[in-house]
Amino acid sequence: MQVITETKVKIRKPRHCWGCKTEYPQGTLMNRVASVDGATINSAYWCKTCDDYLAKHRHEIDFDNGFDYGDLLNFDDYIPFNGNKSKQELKNEHYN
Ligand SMILES: [Zn+2]
Repeated sequence: MQVITETKVKIRKPRHCWGCKTEYPQGTLMNRVASVDGATINSAYWCKTCDDYLAKHRHEIDFDNGFDYGDLLNFDDYIPFNGNKSKQELKNEHYN
C-alpha cells in the first residue's frame, strides 16, 4: 500500500475513522488518505487521534500488507478517542 495524498477535510456527512471505527459527526476535520494497493485506489478517513498515533509509529507498522478497518485497536499502546465524550466535544477537539 502506498499513500498518494493526504488532505485535511471537513467532512460533510458522518464518517467512520478507518483506524478506530469511531464515527465522527458532520463538520469534523479529518485526514483523508488516498492510497494505492496494486491496481486499487482506496480512500479512507482518519481522525486526529489515529493520525497522531500513526505519525509516531509509522516506522513500526507494516503498511505493505494493507491496513484493515479498525486495525489500530489491536495495538497495545493505542488509546482510542473513546465514546465518553459528546459528539460536539469530539468535533471541537479534532484539528481545531
Ligand atoms: Zn480514529
